[in-house]
Amino acid sequence: PAIELDGVVKEYVSHGEVVQAVKGVTLSIAEGEFFSLLGPSGCGKTTTMRMIAGFEDPSRGTVRLHGQDVTDVPPNKRDVNMVFQSYALFPHMNVWENVAFGLRRKKVADTEIKRRVGEILEIVDLTGREKRRPREMSGGQQQRVALARALVNNPRALLLDEPLGALDLKLRQAMQIELKRIQREVGITFVYVTHDQSEALTMSDRIAVMSDGQVEQLGSPREIYERPATAFVAGFIGTSNLLSGTVDHFQSGFAVLKLGDDDHVLAEGGSFRAGEPIAITVRPEKIRITTEEPTGDLSIVRGAVSEVVYLGLYTSYTVSLAHGAEVTVFQQNALDSASTAERGDAVWLSWLPHHSY
Ligand code: ADP
Ligand code: MG
Repeated sequence: PAIELDGVVKEYVSHGEVVQAVKGVTLSIAEGEFFSLLGPSGCGKTTTMRMIAGFEDPSRGTVRLHGQDVTDVPPNKRDVNMVFQSYALFPHMNVWENVAFGLRRKKVADTEIKRRVGEILEIVDLTGREKRRPREMSGGQQQRVALARALVNNPRALLLDEPLGALDLKLRQAMQIELKRIQREVGITFVYVTHDQSEALTMSDRIAVMSDGQVEQLGSPREIYERPATAFVAGFIGTSNLLSGTVDHFQSGFAVLKLGDDDHVLAEGGSFRAGEPIAITVRPEKIRITTEEPTGDLSIVRGAVSEVVYLGLYTSYTVSLAHGAEVTVFQQNALDSASTAERGDAVWLSWLPHHSY
């Protein structure tokens, strides 16, 4: 692995009280992986990143880079580079000088500097802009310069802390695709910090979802979206519906929850007991909305449509169930757009039991 954290804890003393910013993080990042730390503001992403870079010492635990324990190794002796949201470019230097700066300071030969800076500017798509000053460039271009400046040192891993945070949505989305392309091209490990779930889903090979100083779940974007391990992950990634009830009876391997008289929610797996309260989560796009009663081995609930919002690609329905819960349903507006339920309609909602968790 490129990066390993083993039981890493970071404590700060604030107003005489010990605060744990990171509460025992253990994870392993493979060489060449695009790995994201995703979580809400204050969950410990930056602190974790700074311990990988060496800007913070862990209170407990071990940091290993490429198999070597670096817990006590200073940042400049670690084979990683960090890119920040504030690009931290030198305003009085042009693009070429900004990118070449680190190599010059390391006394790398001029011909080698020329070759490497040229190559990196090509990769970040800034060839022809060498003479520009930072203030003459857009935010996206400045971020590319910052990226080039980090990459030109040939680090084995690049750490990026919310690098696109200052860009507007359109530019941010374009840069997400760009960053992924650049990472593929240079082939080095990227560790990416973001609080934006769609950004993490777009770019990452794997994501560690963090909450309150801990890793809640670690997996591929698909695993995290389709199989959230905790209610926190389900709520933080995408939209999801939480339905709670008690186990009524068992039917062909499923626990059956009764919410209202006509409701029949199937829960898979686990060792449920009758009468036990459980909650299941189901994504809005996994639910079918029909005005006819569905049949088959499905989870089925009844309700009334309280809101319909047409969103182009799909329509979002809010359905109020008899016992009070509200369920969001996304139905794709395909050519054969099946349902045209309207506000006030009585409807059935159904989904395959393995689409809930
Ligand atoms: P994130 O990057 O996920 O927003 P941070 O890693 O910056 O979170 O912070 C995690 C927690 O640690 C926060 O509650 C923050 O207030 C606290 N924290 C971070 N740095 C310090 C510090 N130098 N002193 C005291 N508390 C800190
Ligand atoms: Mg942060």
